[in-house]
Amino acid sequence: MNRTVLTMLAHPDDAEILCAGTLIRLAEAGWDVHIATSVMGDCGSATLPNDQIAEIRRKEGVAAAELIDATYHCLGEKDVHLVFDRESNRKAIDLFRQIAPSLVITHPRLDYMLDHEQTHLLARSAAFAYPIPNSTDMPLNEGSAVPYLYYCDPLDGVDHAGEQIKPTTLIDITGEMDRKTEMLACHVSQREWLRSHHGMDEYIEAMKRHSAMRGQHAGTTYAEAFVQHRGHAFPRNDLLAELFNGHVNE
Ligand SMILES: [Zn+2]
Repeated sequence: MNRTVLTMLAHPDDAEILCAGTLIRLAEAGWDVHIATSVMGDCGSATLPNDQIAEIRRKEGVAAAELIDATYHCLGEKDVHLVFDRESNRKAIDLFRQIAPSLVITHPRLDYMLDHEQTHLLARSAAFAYPIPNSTDMPLNEGSAVPYLYYCDPLDGVDHAGEQIKPTTLIDITGEMDRKTEMLACHVSQREWLRSHHGMDEYIEAMKRHSAMRGQHAGTTYAEAFVQHRGHAFPRNDLLAELFNGHVNE
């Protein structure tokens, strides 16, 4: 198995909020890390036009990824207009084909907003399809196989109806919190927007509160939570828990 992890999430700061601690641990264990977003973050400003804020957010995504020698990718779709359709599906499959991930992290099926849910569909489709030789014209890289697939937490750990979700896997990220915070802090445009709105550093504090809440479940200071996709054809052993002595919910 090649050791390549790909996060396929919606917005340029989602990985840093939801799973960067685990990505840091994977990078330290020698994994090749790829952080992809489906949309450009072009609605992430109250004052700048789409193309300007999109360019700023692309640079912020690249800077955060570079802190752990990861590579940032974007499918180039527009915020709040993302649709799982023939074209976006092809783009996602081609990206997966190029990267050939053995481990994929995406949003859960149900989340607070539809860019996340449509991204879930894209990632789930591409994870299954990319190793199928005829799924795209791009060359098939060695090691291509249906990857381990995990869903990170929905925002606030609750689904669209406000119901708490039950993780299968909790990864201790206490030792990674400083670097996770540094990665999130690369998203200056979003941090400043929230800071001016809340009058406090809510961007960083909200991430820490959520990691601390999952830490309580895991019996550590900070943790990240995942639900493993264990449907037909996907590997069912809990790779993340095996790698990092994760706390597994029964
Ligand atoms: Zn998001």
